[in-house]
Amino acid sequence: MSAPVEQHDPETQHLASREVDWRDFREHLATADKDGSRRWIYAKQPAGQWYRWRTWMSWVLIGTMFTGPFVRINGNPLLMFNIVERRFSILGHIFWPEDGIIFAVAMLTFFAGIMVFTSAFGRLWCGWTCPQTIMMEMVFRKLEYLIEGDAHQQRALAAAPWTLQKAARKLFKHAVFFALSFLIGNTLLSYIIGSDQLLHIIRDDPLNHLTGLGFMVLFTLVFYAIFARFREQACTFICPYGRFQSALLDENTMVVAYDHKRGEKRAPWKRDQRLELRLAEAKGDCVDCHQCVSVCPTGIDIRNGVQMECVNCTACIDACDSVMDKIGRPRGLIRYASLNGIEHGQPLRYTNRMKLYTVILSGLITLFAFLVLTRADVQAIFLRAPGALFQQAAEGRISNLYTVKIINKTHGTLPIQFRLEGIEGKVVTLGAQDFIVPGDKLAQTSVLVEIDPKLLPRATTPLSIGVYANNKHIETVKTAFIGPGH
Ligand code: SF4
Ligand code: SF4
Repeated sequence: MSAPVEQHDPETQHLASREVDWRDFREHLATADKDGSRRWIYAKQPAGQWYRWRTWMSWVLIGTMFTGPFVRINGNPLLMFNIVERRFSILGHIFWPEDGIIFAVAMLTFFAGIMVFTSAFGRLWCGWTCPQTIMMEMVFRKLEYLIEGDAHQQRALAAAPWTLQKAARKLFKHAVFFALSFLIGNTLLSYIIGSDQLLHIIRDDPLNHLTGLGFMVLFTLVFYAIFARFREQACTFICPYGRFQSALLDENTMVVAYDHKRGEKRAPWKRDQRLELRLAEAKGDCVDCHQCVSVCPTGIDIRNGVQMECVNCTACIDACDSVMDKIGRPRGLIRYASLNGIEHGQPLRYTNRMKLYTVILSGLITLFAFLVLTRADVQAIFLRAPGALFQQAAEGRISNLYTVKIINKTHGTLPIQFRLEGIEGKVVTLGAQDFIVPGDKLAQTSVLVEIDPKLLPRATTPLSIGVYANNKHIETVKTAFIGPGH
């Protein structure tokens, strides 16, 4: 028999000694006392294979997150969501407000993806990829362990009277948290306004960028408040995903679950206890050591069943696996499983509901791919100059003035020409023969359209204008031409 499990671990003693009423866990939050005041969670540092895999995953995602706005593809950011100018860059491709339909389909695809993913894999997103969980558990909490020690040391420090040493340690921790929050705040800003603009704000006279600096301070304070104080409450109180998961999960969804059939009836492991005797007494594998509770960053007890607060972080799997190793029982008392898997031993299933979601998602992905692949390289918008009707031009022709906006969605510079279609006349680009539009930019000019009045039977004539780039037809724009009429 392996070494007995330590029943007096300083990390869990406060939990084991707590009088637990198993029926009242749904009556109040794990992070609040019965009177409603905050109960601070001192989560023990997890250790084990799942924590290792999550750590590796987190480094990849953190690297992507911090470098995303600075990496360039075709001169454009890898990722940029410029809400202010309504300009988005994904994998170096610029998307404009005029690509609104693509954006709408992308959003629908995203939400359908969440539905499929959540109904099949539960909150895998929360535990493995959510920026909040990753930054909290893999960065801020790890720094906290380094500065203040593991959970019982943190708890002791919090309870200790204020001394110079305690103040210095707390001050140092919060200074580090604030600096990190500043870094995260600036990264978020660079996703919104672009990294070039962010660097410009940093280098230029601060008085020229009071709004930008204001947002830098605001984002820093918000992130500091979240990671230093708010913490797991962001997942339980604010995040809508956690709230609507109850509508998406069913008994076939994969979740982090406690195998109550194997674990109950729980009972502490007595020193020198023989396994055969324990089994003969109909005791389960759970030795009621509270290790799974002590590592939980949201403070819940997974043995109470699936709970909204559970972010599927796998810390309790690692904790319990190490206990099972010590008592010589198979790992997986807490594991990824569906409720049907626990109750009836069924393997994970691809249900009809998941199939329906998958069909919807596939349709949306196909539509999205079609829209992106058939997206016009150049988009032209013709607007009649405000307030202008028509003018008398040379040789008796009638002219109309238009404002033209051209969006060049390619990465190269394009010379643009305009030609009338279906009617004789001239198109004069004001200022230059060719209208040059740089790659990934929007440019504006004015054009005069001149038509012989004999060709205008009515006061308003529908007009088609061909838009050409490098003399290649791009699109035909419909507008109206105002004349004197007959
Ligand atoms: S489920 Fe595992 S870690 Fe949790 S109390 Fe039981 S034995 Fe301990
Ligand atoms: S119950 Fe387990 S998986 Fe869920 S949040 Fe707590 S430690 Fe993470």
